[in-house]
This record gives sequence, C-alpha cells and structure tokens, in this order.
Amino acid sequence: MNQTKQKVKEQFHLFLSKKGLKATLQRSLILDAFLGLDRSTHIDELYLLLRGRHSNIGHATVYRALRLFAAAGIAREVNLGDGLTRYEVAGGKRRDYLVCNDCGTVTEFENSTIARHQAELARNLGFTVQSLKIELRGICGNCQERQG
Ligand SMILES: [Zn+2]
Repeated sequence: MNQTKQKVKEQFHLFLSKKGLKATLQRSLILDAFLGLDRSTHIDELYLLLRGRHSNIGHATVYRALRLFAAAGIAREVNLGDGLTRYEVAGGKRRDYLVCNDCGTVTEFENSTIARHQAELARNLGFTVQSLKIELRGICGNCQERQG
C-alpha cells in the first residue's frame, strides 16, 4: 500500500469517528476497491466490481459509501454531462477527460505540465482555484474510423 492510500484511509477513519460512525468491513472493502482503481469510477461500475468479489455488498451500500467518501473529503464528484456521477480520489493526480460526442466514451489522461502551468497562471493572477474540470469534447478515434 502506498502512502497516499494509507493517508486517505486514515482521513476516512478520522471522519467516521468524528461522526460517530463505525468503520465497517463493507465500507473498508468499498474504499479499497475505490482506491485500487486509481481512476474515476461511478457507482454501477464500482458495484459490479465489488459484487464479483463480495456478493453480499448491495448497490445502495456502495452508493452510500461513495457519498460518505465525498462528505469525508477523500473523494470528489466529477460530472461529465452524461448523467453519471463519477467519483475520483480527492487530492490525487489531476485527471483531464476526453469525451466522445458520438458514443460517449470517456478517456482520462494526465498531464502534469498542463496542470502545473495552469496552477502557476492562476497564482500569478492572484486567484485561488477551488474547483476545476477539463473536458475536451469531440469524436473519438473509433467513431471516426466507423464513419470513414
Ligand atoms: Zn466515439
């Protein structure tokens, strides 16, 4: 387990104890799966992944756990306008998204140079960034090929 994941878990447990909530086995399994993905995910995807390993975890449990992660500040919501609420690890590497207007495929990418330049630009303008979403919309390679 790397340090970031360990820190995230500690933050979550601190949040639970402050709220008087229990660190249940299910919550910890869901958190492990979420952190293990290392990219954004949405409830249905995470639920299917977990159900494959632990048949006793229900959809509603996964939903509530993700909401709890967001409330604890360890996950943040990402909305790409396709009706799915995605969650990514807060404070993790910044992700940007390519969204296909045709098939809806979402491709994530990381570019630390872009992220650094934007942070610097904001700082130089005396601006404190509180939220950010980079979403490039267009037609993906597969759809272009299909359309000839
Ligand atoms: Zn496409």
